[in-house]
Amino acid sequence: MLHMADDAIPLLSKSRFTSGLQCLRKLYLSCFQPGLGTPPDAALQAVFDAGAAVGEIARDLRSGGVLIDDPYDRHDDAVERTRKLLAEKDIPSIYEAGFTEDGVRIRADILARTSESSWELIEVKSSTSAKEEHIPDAAVQLMVIEQAGLTIERVGLAHIDRDYVYPGGKYEADQLLTVEDITDVARSYAETIGGKLALMRVALAGDEPPDIAIGPHCHRPYECQFFAHCRAREPDWSIEELPGLSAKRRKQLRDADVRSILDIPDEIQLSATQDRARQAIVTGEPQLGVNLEAELNKIEAPAHFIDFETLGPALPVFPGTRPFEAVPFQWSDHVLHQNGDMTHSEFLADGSDDPRAAFSESLLSQLQGAATVVVYSGYEELCLRGLQAVLPDQRLALEKLLNVRWVDLLKIVRGHFYHRDFRGSFSLKSVLPALAPDVTYEDLEIRGGMVASNAYLESIRPETSAGQRRKLRKDLLAYCARDTKAMLLIIDAMRGSSA
Ligand code: SF4
Repeated sequence: MLHMADDAIPLLSKSRFTSGLQCLRKLYLSCFQPGLGTPPDAALQAVFDAGAAVGEIARDLRSGGVLIDDPYDRHDDAVERTRKLLAEKDIPSIYEAGFTEDGVRIRADILARTSESSWELIEVKSSTSAKEEHIPDAAVQLMVIEQAGLTIERVGLAHIDRDYVYPGGKYEADQLLTVEDITDVARSYAETIGGKLALMRVALAGDEPPDIAIGPHCHRPYECQFFAHCRAREPDWSIEELPGLSAKRRKQLRDADVRSILDIPDEIQLSATQDRARQAIVTGEPQLGVNLEAELNKIEAPAHFIDFETLGPALPVFPGTRPFEAVPFQWSDHVLHQNGDMTHSEFLADGSDDPRAAFSESLLSQLQGAATVVVYSGYEELCLRGLQAVLPDQRLALEKLLNVRWVDLLKIVRGHFYHRDFRGSFSLKSVLPALAPDVTYEDLEIRGGMVASNAYLESIRPETSAGQRRKLRKDLLAYCARDTKAMLLIIDAMRGSSA
């Protein structure tokens, strides 16, 4: 049912338009009940900040322009300033130009004059390629700007060049960024926008948010801020908690009106992992695969339970590194010795130099004589292969280490064990609290890899005080040590469940 006059429907913006493309419910909630969303955490905020930093650098691609710095909540002021600047023929570019047309308002990252009467529109993204989801962003701007009477000759998408190697010092926009010409694809997408906007306005005119169930669209192309709210509308033990739920199986279950794992009919064939999850939920008991013990017995002492923390910013920090290249700066190692004793060692790079050589040297020395290296996911092996490429002096020693028996505990858990409190996730952050409820991450200042890398970055900045640096290092050490201790606790708990 419609309840709203057309002129009461909120203005759409670029971000509301992309929200509406992802999910009409997301659009509705963004407009009318934004408080139901989860605010961005430190990790997400860091991604936004990196995007803003790349956006600022990108202005040098079309230099000499004027920045419209009116905040987003003063959009009309930005539109007015843009209108005046457009009339000044000697201004080569405008950054953050504002427009409102036909109920849609946008700010354009870069608008560069290509002639007295035509312009180039550049949308800036801090990814390393032009992605499908970037096209609507650019296309909606193209549509609005042309509706405002400008001629757009070219639409470009500026993104980070994945082959860029940071030489140190100031980031040079024309080295760091590549501009892809997306004029044709943006233009043909723009022709479809009218119909999409009409559908969005119908949704916005309703009394209630559209009744859309959670699914993969909640996480792609963007993580939806309303997920916790929408998840709470699902029954307990939602089918969304089935590990590895495929789109086909989800549709099959939803078509059969099955929303809870408890209601899945026997005739629906599940994978072994999904079946274990269902049994754990139905019985309330952890479910063990028959090969669990045999898999765990492959861990021979001395066994090193290791975890790395890495840095992979869009804007490289250390000369010689590339955008998003993983630079390991910290390791933790819990060692299970042959006599049953356990010890712990750790490394956290200090100073503002590239930490990789010191990281690798210290790790190689620590892991000498290891019979087994235990990790949670294949990430650590990948990091070591990356180090081989940049540390030729240590390449052979790293190869030797990679040839030791490596055991991925994540694969063992996923393949042979399920506790219903995993809630469909095998991440360490889900598995540890389920199996060792007294040892969670809640007491730690740092609870995630992205926050850890930001903390490390802050700790090596010259302007960070000595006291703050000490605190950050203490928090980092506590976090990484928790990850490696977690693996031992998980093994103990899984073995305890079989007793
Ligand atoms: S969580 Fe999913 S269903 Fe809910 S608003 Fe977001 S995208 Fe839509």
